[in-house]
Amino acid sequence: MAVISLLAAGLLPLQTSSALTEPSSSKAGPQTANASPGPEIPGLSAEPIHDTGEPASDTAREIEVREGDTLSEIFQANGAPLSDLHRIMEADAEFLALETLKPGTRLSLHFNQENRFSKLTLHLDPAREVVYLKREDGSFEHQQYEADTRWVTEVIRGRVDGSFYASAIQAGLNRAQIQLIDQLLGNQLNFRKDLRVGDEFRVIVGHEMAGETSTNNTRLQAVTLHRASKTHYAFRFHDGNYYDEDGNSVSPAFLRWPTSKRYRVSSPFNKNRLHPVTGRRRPHNGVDLATPSGTPVLSTGDGIVRRVGNHPYAGRYIDIDHGGAHTTRYLHLNKVLVRSGAQIQRGQKIALSGNTGRSTGPHLHFEFHIKGQPVDPLTADIPTAAAIPKAELAAFQRKVDEQLVVMKYAGSRSELLVSKAPPLFDQNTARVRQPLLRHATDSSTR
Ligand SMILES: [Zn+2]
Repeated sequence: MAVISLLAAGLLPLQTSSALTEPSSSKAGPQTANASPGPEIPGLSAEPIHDTGEPASDTAREIEVREGDTLSEIFQANGAPLSDLHRIMEADAEFLALETLKPGTRLSLHFNQENRFSKLTLHLDPAREVVYLKREDGSFEHQQYEADTRWVTEVIRGRVDGSFYASAIQAGLNRAQIQLIDQLLGNQLNFRKDLRVGDEFRVIVGHEMAGETSTNNTRLQAVTLHRASKTHYAFRFHDGNYYDEDGNSVSPAFLRWPTSKRYRVSSPFNKNRLHPVTGRRRPHNGVDLATPSGTPVLSTGDGIVRRVGNHPYAGRYIDIDHGGAHTTRYLHLNKVLVRSGAQIQRGQKIALSGNTGRSTGPHLHFEFHIKGQPVDPLTADIPTAAAIPKAELAAFQRKVDEQLVVMKYAGSRSELLVSKAPPLFDQNTARVRQPLLRHATDSSTR
């Protein structure tokens, strides 16, 4: 067990060692002085993470996932045993990290000096990697690393002309961002009925950067929507929730329980659980509710279905992104009633509970994540209709004022996107348009 905590030099370990909070000076234990999986580089710059800390005689095979690849095929083609893959999948049930693999994802398969498979690394994005490291007993340890990142902002401005959705797409927002705006402001106005041609929106979008490389993660930092009668606001505060200009929450509230009636907790959330079957220590990242098969499962908040899948150990599952800082996850489902990408209301029936995957009996495993970290769903701070605490109100107001100025005056790519320019492939204007766009993008993101 001691080994778990010793892996973190340089990069921040997110999952496995959070229960073990040594000061950073104690991280390099005697066994792991040479085995630190992450290089000690703050900010990671533009370089992807490589395991420079490994002894030189270990080897790693770098693989890029291609369309149609399966992990079994990748393991077999590279001489890694399928029994190890099964053990990895077992550990992955609490994380579902392998479920994010898609064409283009990079993996590293590591082999020790005896040429035995020792470690799988998933390079999730330029700032994040997940490692499955083989323990002496043959099971695998999940580790997650995250480099320092920063957010650069882009201002998007547009006017309503036709539907809000079409106008926002035209201005450069994507579907998920528009869905979030709908969630945040949808309690104040009806996006289908209340908007008029010429109503104006301004949005600050943050782009996450690892050095000079985008991680492709974005977030809405501020939204204003000007109508003839009223202006609506949503500002993201450092708690990940959104507030109006006076500091009142506009993040939709959550239900505490994912079922309409309460069921017995058959296994609580526990970051350091001793597994009842395997006897190994492994976090239990959710709470198990003793639901009979077929119990309706409710989304605890408004959101968008990010993933629907079937994992050999977690069973049928759903991931819901609630915008801002929150996601929920529902495992071992018997039947999934929603599709990936669907917009979901709080309390909506999304599935029937079951006993799929490796499960000792019918139950619902429910997870609640804040800023990517699983927390106890039954005790976590869940967004309610709350306001910014008084002590933070002055700081919030300064941020609001600053963002209003940015939204109003900062250069914006979207002004070029939405201008009534000639069609994109017009021979006469194509030459002019391209450099203009490139220039505008540069100036708005630096
Ligand atoms: Zn569970």
